[in-house]
Amino acid sequence: MQLFFGFIFATIIAYLAYRAHSLSRSGAVAAAFVGMIIFGLGGWQWAVLLLTFFISSTALTRAFKNRKQSLDEKFSKGGKRDAGQVLGNGAIATAFAFLHLIFPASSWTWIGFAAALAAVNADTWATELGVLNPTPPRMITDLRKRVEKGTSGGVSLFGTVAALFGSAVIASLAALFSPTNHRLIFLLVTVSGLLGSLFDSLLGATVQAMYYCPLDKKETEKHPLHTCGTPTVHIRGWKWLNNDLVNFTCGAFGVLVALLMSFALM
Ligand SMILES: [Zn+2]
Repeated sequence: MQLFFGFIFATIIAYLAYRAHSLSRSGAVAAAFVGMIIFGLGGWQWAVLLLTFFISSTALTRAFKNRKQSLDEKFSKGGKRDAGQVLGNGAIATAFAFLHLIFPASSWTWIGFAAALAAVNADTWATELGVLNPTPPRMITDLRKRVEKGTSGGVSLFGTVAALFGSAVIASLAALFSPTNHRLIFLLVTVSGLLGSLFDSLLGATVQAMYYCPLDKKETEKHPLHTCGTPTVHIRGWKWLNNDLVNFTCGAFGVLVALLMSFALM
């Protein structure tokens, strides 16, 4: 019964996001699936965390759109999220809803779920707000080196604080809805989310697939075609490790940190 309500509820939200051009057609189908499973198997508390991530990241992507326009070409996809992006951000959280079905009495499924969302929320907040920083970021692998705004692997104090807040928002809800250990869950999920997003930057600086547009003479995540329509050339990183997989790994790293910390501390 709850799965049925989850299906209705998630489909309505995905449809509205599709109509608002925040999700592509494939993205809306994937979001409806993710929402149905998380609401249907987890319950409304799980749905609140997912919606907090979804609404805040959509709103931040849309906000300050004009100031971000010039950076748009650097990111592999525009404001419309497709299935790859939705699953890159939501697949691990969805898996934890299934694990909750198998282990209904365990608290680690809730912690893992929250950490996965905290990490992708931290990453999204850092990306969307970090570009508003007037000073250019520095490379995470070489903090003396300044890089152009929007470069994968670029970090700044401003962006890191944005990531911390993005993570803390999810963590405070995770703590609020937890029956016990509120303070510990807040700290644990906040730290895990922040570390997940920093791991995302580390991958962006090292092994994520990067391309080059010979027409604009710019580095980009876009492949096979740049925004200008020119085919892009692979310059560094593992070709199979695209941005969606990096986001997936960001969530996975957050979960790993959270579960290790919770087994050590609780
Ligand atoms: Zn180009």
